[in-house]
Amino acid sequence: MVGNVVGKIDLVQTASMAKDVCKLTERVAPHRHCRQCSKPVSMEDTFCSPACENGFKNGLRRKKRQLYLYYIMIIVLLFLALAYVGKI
Ligand SMILES: [Zn+2]
Repeated sequence: MVGNVVGKIDLVQTASMAKDVCKLTERVAPHRHCRQCSKPVSMEDTFCSPACENGFKNGLRRKKRQLYLYYIMIIVLLFLALAYVGKI
């Protein structure tokens, strides 16, 4: 019984929050967010500043390098495991 009441209250709160979100989206002009720092930018831009763009590109490069390192590590570990088992 108590759980049911709490559930109803949650539903009412969720509904009113959804209304608030609708009000907000009506007021704010269409925009995007900087892919690095999430600051609002115009629809044509992807980043708020060249520094953010550079930071994002550097991060992407670092992630790619990390991914290659993981691949190499997996291959090396696979060969080591096979050598340990004695199949090579
Ligand atoms: Zn930014």
